[in-house]
Amino acid sequence: MTADLAERLGFRSVLAVCAHPDDESFGLGAVISTFGELGIETTLLCFTRGEASTLGTKTDDLADHRAKELEAAAAVLGVRSLRLLSYPDGHLSEIDIEELSAEVEHAAEAGSVDCVLVFDESGITGHPDHQKATAAARATAARLDLPVLAWTLPSTVTDALNSEFAAAFVGRDPSAIDFTIHVDRTMQHEAIGRHASQSNDNPVLRRRLALQGSSESLIWLSAPRVSRRDS
Ligand SMILES: [Zn+2]
Repeated sequence: MTADLAERLGFRSVLAVCAHPDDESFGLGAVISTFGELGIETTLLCFTRGEASTLGTKTDDLADHRAKELEAAAAVLGVRSLRLLSYPDGHLSEIDIEELSAEVEHAAEAGSVDCVLVFDESGITGHPDHQKATAAARATAARLDLPVLAWTLPSTVTDALNSEFAAAFVGRDPSAIDFTIHVDRTMQHEAIGRHASQSNDNPVLRRRLALQGSSESLIWLSAPRVSRRDS
């Protein structure tokens, strides 16, 4: 199954583009660790230091604290290289897309990647920072002719979360999902633990992972050319 999945995915080196420290673990963690098992290397670009978070204990320098958490979590997930930028948390949507896209391009070329991995275009949680990070990644991928794979959630999961919490998760109809992959969440949980400032008191995250079980959902926002020919 794993060899078959690697073949169906068709890439060997991926650039994950995230808005905040913890997105790579809370959102993409099980996908990145599963890719590692398939021999797919991950390079990570994160646009902000997450200093606007209202979760968890306040420290004197949340940006610095969260940067260290990100480094530790990325190491757990087997990320090959990490580039952390300092765009303003909560205000990514105000930054010129060309500027962000240039950063994605730099990271994609430095990592010699053949695919880009993002949060689904809705931002999953609806966070405008997530949406902007994905938009910048897509703009770059179009320029470099790279496929774009998005992490998404089935609407069964998002409907449950939205009814149980005051949340605005946006999912996909299960029929629209390209890959439903079986994952082992051990490394993801370990990486989540490295983001203690954000994960120690996070019932929505715990519930979401429980609803997802051992499945992750991926969708092509821009399919590789071979798949385009096939379809
Ligand atoms: Zn985030």
